[in-house]
Amino acid sequence: MFSSVLIANRGEIACRIARTAKRLGMRTIAVYSDADAQALHVKLCDEAYRIGPPPATESYLLIERIIETALASKADCIHPGYGFLSEKPDFAEACVDAGIAFVGPPADAIRAMGLKDRAKALMEKAGVPVVPGYHGDQQEPKFLKRKAYEIGYPVLIKAVAGGGGKGMRRVERHADFDEALESAMREAGSAFGDSRVLIEKYVSAPRHVEIQVFGDSHGNVIHLNERDCSLQRRHQKVIEEAPAPGMSADLRDTMGMAAVAAAKAVGYVGAGTVEFIADGANGLRPDGFWFMEMNTRLQVEHPVTEMITGLDLVEWQFRVAAGEKLPKSQSEVAPRGHAVEARLYAEDPEHGFLPSTGKLLALDFGKGDGVRIDTGVEAGAEVSPYYDPMIAKVIVHAPAREAALARLAEALERTIVAGPKTNLTFLAALCRAPDFRAGDFDTGFIDRNLVQLGAVAQEPDRAAAARGAEVLLAREAARIARRHAGPPSPWDIADAFQVSGARDTTMPLLVDGKPAMAHVAYRPQGAVVLIDGVAAEPAAIAIETPGSVHVLRGGRQTVVALRDFESAEGAEADGDGAIRAPMHGKILALLVENGSKVTKGQRLAVIEAMKMEHALTAPHDGTVSELSVTAGSQIAEGAKIMAVTAPEEKKD
Ligand code: ADP
Ligand code: ADP
Ligand code: MG
Repeated sequence: MFSSVLIANRGEIACRIARTAKRLGMRTIAVYSDADAQALHVKLCDEAYRIGPPPATESYLLIERIIETALASKADCIHPGYGFLSEKPDFAEACVDAGIAFVGPPADAIRAMGLKDRAKALMEKAGVPVVPGYHGDQQEPKFLKRKAYEIGYPVLIKAVAGGGGKGMRRVERHADFDEALESAMREAGSAFGDSRVLIEKYVSAPRHVEIQVFGDSHGNVIHLNERDCSLQRRHQKVIEEAPAPGMSADLRDTMGMAAVAAAKAVGYVGAGTVEFIADGANGLRPDGFWFMEMNTRLQVEHPVTEMITGLDLVEWQFRVAAGEKLPKSQSEVAPRGHAVEARLYAEDPEHGFLPSTGKLLALDFGKGDGVRIDTGVEAGAEVSPYYDPMIAKVIVHAPAREAALARLAEALERTIVAGPKTNLTFLAALCRAPDFRAGDFDTGFIDRNLVQLGAVAQEPDRAAAARGAEVLLAREAARIARRHAGPPSPWDIADAFQVSGARDTTMPLLVDGKPAMAHVAYRPQGAVVLIDGVAAEPAAIAIETPGSVHVLRGGRQTVVALRDFESAEGAEADGDGAIRAPMHGKILALLVENGSKVTKGQRLAVIEAMKMEHALTAPHDGTVSELSVTAGSQIAEGAKIMAVTAPEEKKD
């Protein structure tokens, strides 16, 4: 076994790998970018080395820098985690060339599965069912469009080099094909440096069912059962579970054998996942699943497999990389109970799931029996715009599915995150959604149920805002009391609040950045704060910062601050026409220029922010002016990109 490991990753997965490595008695070596100097994975490891500035292309993706660091720190092996360099065959090769073991499959196996078109061709040869479609070399738009027509709509355009749901577009109608192809190719080119695509039949009522496989260097390959990852948004997994609802032991054998055949066809060694798409229209069937791709690394959702098998997959990875045989045989790894994982993200479900960055003012997980938390951050840490904004994975295990889902909902409801917005409420709503609980769902479930799941703009939470106002009021009173060194009186706070009635006052606030007014009534029993007649919810959790109060109620966060009238007016004057970046990102395409006449809803620019493309559209008809960016430039959250001035209204 190895005595030391360099972990070429960050975040929760770096922490998770370090934990197993330590248990196995290894010296753990972290690498970090400047954005991560204080990160948990750095603190957790025995040693840590700076590898560059925050952008991944200048740090975590630098093969040479990481190999140099591994040599300098005398690491026996390198674990790549997931993402970053984990599926770069050149990296696997560079490790081996430097005499350092790569904890992952041979470079050739990564290469064989790296491009979806070649992988599909290979799988066809190996007798594994693949999704019908076109995965040849021709890339002329006209040709691809004809193929799409032949395959039959709906089709899915996929980047051959794709991953993480990027460069993928579902097309319903022939008329929409050209635009979808162009945007898929652009996203693929920018994300992977390879704009080539393949076209697939879009499977109806699709279920994503994947098989965890493991191989050793002695030619043994087994599978560790399936995971169902059908709850997705934009082709990215949100909740994963094992076993898959509706899976029979026979079908598990059939799919497991297909996955093992796929792995054997490329001489696979180590942990890998064979992803299948299944037609769930009439339940899972032996003739209703097709190979999509193989991920030649540890998967984000591997903990659900660990919980139903009681195994440590990272330990297996180390053992296999060190040349040991697989610790168990196929018959010894049957599933026990049910496990579910939810990906807790810093994002805003009420506003299109835009990533939400910033400092974690409070962080407390709903730990409990059968609950596992995998995280890479702690309170006080910053969710930066540079990397994936996942805060943690909340994983539960229970004897059966219903109990596991209830346990997960409870754990999510106990979790406290203040600072960035999160998907906590949304995840809990998913766990409690009746159809999902009944096992009646496919990959379109989330999109079809956004309203029921609360993923739409909501009314402000007045009870939470009033709770925040109470805290601010008490804080002001205390401040004034300190100043006067006498008992507080509502009249003292007249410098900040307008005095309206006899003993009642109003308090101008900003609630989530929008102007609001609190009414403060002084009753014999004390001050009562109302917002639009709604009283404060005493059970809401208030977290104070110097300028504001973050109030959490049912996982939802409301930020309350005192407003002075002047700044509020300034903020409102801004409403009209200024097109601002919704978040830190990169301008991928500018679709207008100064002087362009645009109509309401027209696409103005495309921004790539962290994971996805976002189109900026015109808020009304008008003319573009003040264009201040160029394609390719980086922009900060809130930065003005251009203005769209409305035409003068004609009076008659
Ligand atoms: P997939 O969605 O490709 O089937 P996973 O669910 O395991 O597989 O997602 C892992 C992928 O997500 C990575 O390949 C990477 O593109 C992206 N990703 C997610 N989190 C991170 C992270 N912290 N660092 C880098 N990449 C990440
Ligand atoms: P990535 O590398 O981005 O993970 P995949 O090929 O694994 O790409 O596809 C991502 C997701 O898109 C799948 O999990 C599935 O939900 C959906 N998907 C992929 N192919 C199809 C298809 N042919 N029909 C329906 N859905 C699909
Ligand atoms: Mg995939």
